[in-house]
Amino acid sequence: MTNAPTILVVEDDRNLNRVLSMALKADGYHTIDAGTGQRAIEEVRTRNPELVLLDLGLPDGDGLALVPTIRANSSAPIIVVSGRQADTEKVKALDAGADDYMTKPFSVPELRARVRATLRNHARVVDGPATIVVFGPYTFNFEARCLLRGTDRVHLSPTEFRLLATLARHLDRVVAAEVLLKETWGSAYQRKDDYVRVYMHSLRRKLESDPAHPKYLLTESGLGYRLDIAAA
Ligand code: CA
Repeated sequence: MTNAPTILVVEDDRNLNRVLSMALKADGYHTIDAGTGQRAIEEVRTRNPELVLLDLGLPDGDGLALVPTIRANSSAPIIVVSGRQADTEKVKALDAGADDYMTKPFSVPELRARVRATLRNHARVVDGPATIVVFGPYTFNFEARCLLRGTDRVHLSPTEFRLLATLARHLDRVVAAEVLLKETWGSAYQRKDDYVRVYMHSLRRKLESDPAHPKYLLTESGLGYRLDIAAA
């Protein structure tokens, strides 16, 4: 399958790297291995992978520091793979531009499901409808995959973009967490309510002047979330 997506596996644990690569190859993907951050950046620049699996504990530094460099060189979604469990670590990775976060240990079926969902969502957004939604000082453009504040571009990670796109598609209506999960991450994620909380938190930090009292990204207690475009 020459058209199969290429996945860059950045992991210095050789056994784990082999297990991941074998599982991905079994699903028909091409894989590239990198055991260091430096090698990972070289591979991103020269081989243009469609998705990056990124371990955070690398011998030449914290994988998190690579995220902006990968983002600057590639639009490939990034799934961070880490032993760090804390929400603050997840928020840091997502703020830096990662799309998804898996904590070790994880199962191979989970990995495969997340890779599938991430690639599918990425393709869906790229092919999305040409729609513009304006709220407050913001202009959200589905097709250009961009959010402007006035004329300044607001940097969103691909997952933040998709979450905002899901809310914008259900404009001014309450969207239940399960629906957000399904439409933003895919049906494999329906019980991961913490994902919505973590990403909503990072979106509010970027968009709201007072993230604790949001004007646009509202929580409707017990019901879900709503993008309020009528807010001044
Ligand atoms: Ca490691």
